[in-house]
Amino acid sequence: MYKAPVEDYQFLFDHVVGLDGLMQQLGNEDVSTDLAEAVLAEAGKLAADVIAPLNHSGDIAGATRLEDGHVKTPAGFADAHAAMRDGGWSSMESKAEFGGQALPMTLTIAANEFWQSANMAFALCHLLTQGQIHALQKSASPALQQTYIPPMVEGRWTGTMNLTEPQAGSDLAAIKTRAVAQDDHYLISGQKIYITYGEHDMAENIVHLVLARTPDAPPGIKGISVFIVPKYLPDDNGNFTRPNDLRCLSIEKKLGIKASPTAVMQFGETTGSVGYLVGKENEGIDIMFGMMNHARIAVGLQGLAISERAYQQALSYARDRVQGVPLDGKKGDPILHHPDVLRTLVSMKAEIEAMRALMVAGATAMDRAHHLGDGEASQFDARVGLLIPIIKGWMTERAQIIASQGLQVHGGMGFIEETGAAQHYRDSRILTIYEGTTAIQANDLVFRKTIRDQGAALFALLDDIDQDMTDLAGHADDKIPAMAARITEASTAARDVAAHILRGTNDPRRAAASATDFLMLMGTLCGGWMMAKSAAAAAHQLGNEDCENPVFMKAKLGMADIFMTHHLPQVLARAKTILEGDVPVVSISPDWL
Ligand SMILES: Cc1cc2nc3c(=O)[nH]c(=O)nc-3n(C[C@H](O)[C@H](O)[C@H](O)COP(=O)(O)OP(=O)(O)OC[C@H]3O[C@@H](n4cnc5c(N)ncnc54)[C@H](O)[C@@H]3O)c2cc1C
Repeated sequence: MYKAPVEDYQFLFDHVVGLDGLMQQLGNEDVSTDLAEAVLAEAGKLAADVIAPLNHSGDIAGATRLEDGHVKTPAGFADAHAAMRDGGWSSMESKAEFGGQALPMTLTIAANEFWQSANMAFALCHLLTQGQIHALQKSASPALQQTYIPPMVEGRWTGTMNLTEPQAGSDLAAIKTRAVAQDDHYLISGQKIYITYGEHDMAENIVHLVLARTPDAPPGIKGISVFIVPKYLPDDNGNFTRPNDLRCLSIEKKLGIKASPTAVMQFGETTGSVGYLVGKENEGIDIMFGMMNHARIAVGLQGLAISERAYQQALSYARDRVQGVPLDGKKGDPILHHPDVLRTLVSMKAEIEAMRALMVAGATAMDRAHHLGDGEASQFDARVGLLIPIIKGWMTERAQIIASQGLQVHGGMGFIEETGAAQHYRDSRILTIYEGTTAIQANDLVFRKTIRDQGAALFALLDDIDQDMTDLAGHADDKIPAMAARITEASTAARDVAAHILRGTNDPRRAAASATDFLMLMGTLCGGWMMAKSAAAAAHQLGNEDCENPVFMKAKLGMADIFMTHHLPQVLARAKTILEGDVPVVSISPDWL
């Protein structure tokens, strides 16, 4: 059983980020809290009733059957895809000119969380298609846009991202796939591995976005271009039925997300796959970053989503399972009443709420960056750039811990596949690997987002956190100023660490050695910042005589308290490790291992 956390999003929209005010500021008055309420209710229903029931059966069936080059997805997947298409869910994010609804990210992330919680292996297809639409809207020619975007918006076609090759994983500079110009197109040849939904039976056509090199391209990352390579090309009548020269060679057997096909794709075995250049030659990496940034946020969201699912599963088990008599309890009370089980569940819930609040804050920054005028938007561009590695890295790393905690609550039954807890644990494991491993996110945060601008974007974020905490210092509920003081202390520690990193740039190995600790520190701090703001909003609501849902608001305050006491101290601990630990790491000889 999965229940979409609709009320949590409503709380964030109504009381923390002020959705109505934000949308008015962005000139998007059509989007209101009333519309959000209706959208979330419907999205939650589809996730719970149609998509979630296929999670366990999909895991058992897997998507590894390759017959005559075609992959059969698990039973029910094609119907669920059709239900999403018919419900208009594949058009939520895209621009109106391509048939989309152009809904703001602040709203669409909620629905996307629900799909990913319900069934991550299934929803990955949607994630990649939306990422590709995003990239093509930004960078493709009008003719390519008109041909390829609308069918993906309608949900008839799906999209993939073809970066990885056997010798080119984290290091995309090593890509070898070739693209040779011919007439109005290019001929593509090469092999790509690990291509998610590279082949499947849920759509009429699959649009591959492929990184490749032209013959005269400069070596390394500056010589990469990006191409649209459709599975089917247009026939003489303009219908996309003519097979392109590409083939799925095999489907990987893997630890988790078993229902999503992970394909080895061969392009150009005979004549060469017909591909169309997106943007200009050698601009591929910048264009692909348009898609990867979107996908990195979406994978961070998967971290939140799988954590929520693992939590709901664990809570439900803890409410039923009877074992021993809890202290101060009575015979027959379930394990939920053991203080340690309670500790585990509240720790999970507090962190999930922090992730969700940070995700909403990130989405509002993205909407501002997208809709505000050039001058104002640039500061939000910098904020989004800074938050992307934090959201992707922190949320996916914590998802591993939360999925593991969920399993632990089940005891032995967690290790048995029947409950589903083991599947969440296995499924979560990919999240810190694809779309750039945590180390790649951490390098991005430290080198591109902190050192390159001498900490400007980072210090601007810390200034905003400090300002918000100053604003909370006079709050009538005395719990709130105490939380604000803790966050300010953590923010000061983050400043010390940033200054330390900026001072040590003469040996970049030191910054690289502490990059992951820094990323995790920033994730916890930003989560705490948003939890303090949520707590203040909840306390404000509780102060109203006509507070509609006092239990919900008290729980929000309680979770913020747990975050401050159980999670925030990690900021100070990591700061100490970085300040004292980077030199010891780089002074270890690899020969000693
Ligand atoms: C299930 C699944 C689905 C996938 N889907 C897709 C897809 O749809 N499209 C696609 O193109 N790819 C996809 N991938 C590929 C995925 O993005 C890569 O696996 C990932 O980028 C890591 O590359 P790699 O596996 O070659 O590992 P490597 O790059 O070999 O990394 C090995 C280790 O070295 C570390 N490392 C490497 N370089 C650095 C560095 N510079 N600094 C610090 N540490 C470093 C890494 O963090 C990692 O711990 C998928 C992979 C899987 C398993």
